Amino acid sequence: MNADLQRPKGTQDILPPESWRFDKMRRIALDTARLYGFELLETPIFEQTQVFMRVGESTDIVQHERYSFIDAGGVDLTLRPEGTAAVARAYVQNGMYNWPKPLKLIYWGPMFRRERPQADRYRQHTQFGAELYGSEDPGADSEIILLACRVVEQVGLTNPDVRINSIGCAICRPNYRKALVDYYSARRDELCQDCQNRLEKNPLRLLDCKVDVAIRQTAPDLADYWCDDCKSHIESVMAQVSQVGRPIRRDPYLVRGLDYYTRTVFEVGHPSQGPNTALFGGGRYDGLSASFEGPGAPAVGFGMGIERILSAVGDQFPPDEAPLIYVAHLPGFMGQAQIMAEQLRNQQLATESDLLDRSLKAQLREAGKKARLALIVGGREWEQKTVQVKDFANGQQHIVELENLPLFLKDRLRDESQDTNGGSNL
Ligand SMILES: [Zn+2]
Ligand SMILES: [Zn+2]
Repeated sequence: MNADLQRPKGTQDILPPESWRFDKMRRIALDTARLYGFELLETPIFEQTQVFMRVGESTDIVQHERYSFIDAGGVDLTLRPEGTAAVARAYVQNGMYNWPKPLKLIYWGPMFRRERPQADRYRQHTQFGAELYGSEDPGADSEIILLACRVVEQVGLTNPDVRINSIGCAICRPNYRKALVDYYSARRDELCQDCQNRLEKNPLRLLDCKVDVAIRQTAPDLADYWCDDCKSHIESVMAQVSQVGRPIRRDPYLVRGLDYYTRTVFEVGHPSQGPNTALFGGGRYDGLSASFEGPGAPAVGFGMGIERILSAVGDQFPPDEAPLIYVAHLPGFMGQAQIMAEQLRNQQLATESDLLDRSLKAQLREAGKKARLALIVGGREWEQKTVQVKDFANGQQHIVELENLPLFLKDRLRDESQDTNGGSNL
């Protein structure tokens, strides 16, 4: 195919069965969030560019990785690179600060960043996120962390590894920032080029560096600078999460990149991915809604890249399979087979019939590959208002009266689901 007709670099076509894994993941994420009383919010996939500039002007995403364009009306628009800013914009614009508190919101959809393409990183990727507005209480942070853990556990990543830190508040963080800058400035010549830049622009991210790890070992610890409120906040979050039986540990070097965080930052990983690796993360951003000229509201949330999660789960997360019925036919009965298929679909039975008018042998060969049961329409059985049923699970054949057919098929398919659940009726 000509290069200029191919899909853009860094994007993907999600083909079956992978597309069904995405669909299943979406259902699990949304259903799990509903267990906690979260509501689904859909915002446009593009916003006025200012929406993203307001919240992250100094971040790489907003500086270098934006997909922005001027539309025919001269409006500066950007494909959303993340969910939190758009949710905050919607929260203020729709007056949701007047809704009963706390407000628990989830979103699901595509995000766009012009990243350097690499494994599991796409220029269009899917994100699931949760945002809890209106509560400063540590209970809001623990609720968000518990939801995050439950979602990944539901898709097979049991015992997630949660690391948490507090980057302090407007009262205590400036003191820490100063101590950190003083410490690193004294060692400026030993720092990598990235850290020399961070020292000017975003000193907290000095702790993120994977190169200068020896220097950071003796760097000032945030915990020594927390004010009393920040200290008791993180201690309560950790105690609460632990009390429901979820392991959580403090990571003194966890700061996360975004400008708008206050106090809580956290990352969720999994032992199967190695120690200290993050599948996704989140945090608290109490000042964000005030950036949109709304009343300031405390908020805490996370954003989860779905491609990354599905890649981590691998084969342990197969798509749900519809136990298909295939309606085959003898010569001259193709139309009857399609009518039969449609009647079975009326009974919510997933059914296909042959649309190529193939030989019976060819039809049954295909049925054996994709279906659990095959029916054969036509012949002497048909004259006697019966149909032949082939069960591929055990090779048995049955002659079934047409009026009993839906019940018979449902019984067969129920047997199968019991087999795969180890005989449980639950
Ligand atoms: Zn503080
Ligand atoms: Zn460095």
